[in-house]
Amino acid sequence: MSYLVLARKWRPQNFEQIVGQEHVTTTLRNAIRTKRTAHAYIFAGARGVGKTTTARILAKALNCAQGPTETPCNQCTSCLEITGSRSMDVLEIDGASNRGIDQIRDLRENVKYTPTQGKYKVYIIDEVHMLTKEAFNALLKTLEEPPAHVVFVFATTEVHKVPITILSRCQRFDFRRIQLNQIVSHLKKMLSGEEVKAEDECLYIVAKKAEGSMRDSISLMDQLIAFSGNSIKADDARQVLGLVDEEMYFKALELVRAHDKPGILSLIDQVAVGGYDLQEFILGWLAHLRKLLLIAAGSGRTAAGEMTPDEQEKFTQQAQGLDDRDILRMANILIDAEATMKRSSQARLILEMACLRLCNLDSTVRLEEVIKLLDQGGDDPEKEEPPAPALKPPQQAKLNVSPIKEEPAEYTAPPQPLSRDFESLWQSLITAVQERHMTAGTCLASARPVGVSDGNLILSFGPQANFHKKSLEDKAYQELIQEETFKLWGQKLKVVCQVEKGQASQTPQVKETPQRLSRQDEIDRRKSEVMESPQLKSFMDAVDGEVV
Ligand SMILES: [Zn+2]
Repeated sequence: MSYLVLARKWRPQNFEQIVGQEHVTTTLRNAIRTKRTAHAYIFAGARGVGKTTTARILAKALNCAQGPTETPCNQCTSCLEITGSRSMDVLEIDGASNRGIDQIRDLRENVKYTPTQGKYKVYIIDEVHMLTKEAFNALLKTLEEPPAHVVFVFATTEVHKVPITILSRCQRFDFRRIQLNQIVSHLKKMLSGEEVKAEDECLYIVAKKAEGSMRDSISLMDQLIAFSGNSIKADDARQVLGLVDEEMYFKALELVRAHDKPGILSLIDQVAVGGYDLQEFILGWLAHLRKLLLIAAGSGRTAAGEMTPDEQEKFTQQAQGLDDRDILRMANILIDAEATMKRSSQARLILEMACLRLCNLDSTVRLEEVIKLLDQGGDDPEKEEPPAPALKPPQQAKLNVSPIKEEPAEYTAPPQPLSRDFESLWQSLITAVQERHMTAGTCLASARPVGVSDGNLILSFGPQANFHKKSLEDKAYQELIQEETFKLWGQKLKVVCQVEKGQASQTPQVKETPQRLSRQDEIDRRKSEVMESPQLKSFMDAVDGEVV
């Protein structure tokens, strides 16, 4: 049995038999029934999804002796001739090999003649995007005033290459990739008709490999029948198609998650010794990660179209406790490795390196989550824990850092890093002064503390805060503050006020951007402070995480 026989024998002969393109066939059938067919159609979509098959059935429907009818009889001379590619009224033209202006001129000549037998002349131009610019222009003239008896069907895998002038004169149909389960059930029907037995898993393997193309899946099935005869096992399918068992990917990922380097290296050995293509192995692994992502991202419906129910169950299990960000980082490493492999003869080394990198990967912890945890203080069991990092459960971390505070609005210069001790003393000072004298406290709060030097507490003021600065220079306020600094620092500090330069001409209306910058600076400063903090380091050690 050859592919040709199998494919030809099972080629759809009416609209109902076309799999997975109901949105196209229903519209076409309605158009035929209501006699509203167009003069030009464009069928866009991936290869092997039924574009030319649909075009031929449309031709039959229009030219059937009982037609135009949405259900061509497949028995009249016209139907039989179209099925046998002998019809004078249906011309199939390969756009790739007839792409020049001369061929299109011939076509335009031909268009003038009325059909010999049927009611329509149907021109099916495959891969129409291959036509030259001149050829398209010549075609356009015919499309502008098509004779009543002519129907064009343009099929293309690259519709974006078809000029808009052509597209605008066509009714467009976008053919979809055929869903996995639709391909599987079609293959099943076909095989039972051929009295070939095949394991279900084998059909899924073939359908997956075909990536939504019915023609490819039939062609692969044909190879398998040639290889194993009338009883096909899933292992045969993997062997013929050079595929790695999905089980291997489940195992590989578990090894990576367990940081099991010897384990993953021996798995690669198994793959290499098994004679599998290592690049295919990576691509298969990426496909595996993609499925995990679908599950992790909650896209169950997409997943259902691409997996067996058993698989879906297994993927759901593996996706548990796996963060989508971790999956993406793993995928990035594999994508890099695959790209490098193309340029190198050291495929195995590259795969091994990639796997070791995967093993070294720590779980993703968002900085925001860390800050939140630090702010909460990890020792309070009542408080909500951040989401658990994927690779290891977090352990209790006792941390405490003061929360980010909005800077007073007047100030635009980036703050200097100050020690946490100083900052907390400064906050205590403001509170203490405010308790004794509200205005003095407010003035103090509007300042940016620069530091303590030679018995002076140096404060910086923006140009807008001149009033506050002047107030603080008042002797009564000075004394009050000195008393409070004595309690906090153990020495009486004299308040020395500075004015920040460069913003004097600033008007309130244009202040917004610098303020935001200042806020951003504060966040950056806080971030670097957090990154440096020993608490974070011990926390990261505890959860085995890294900051991204
Ligand atoms: Zn017929």
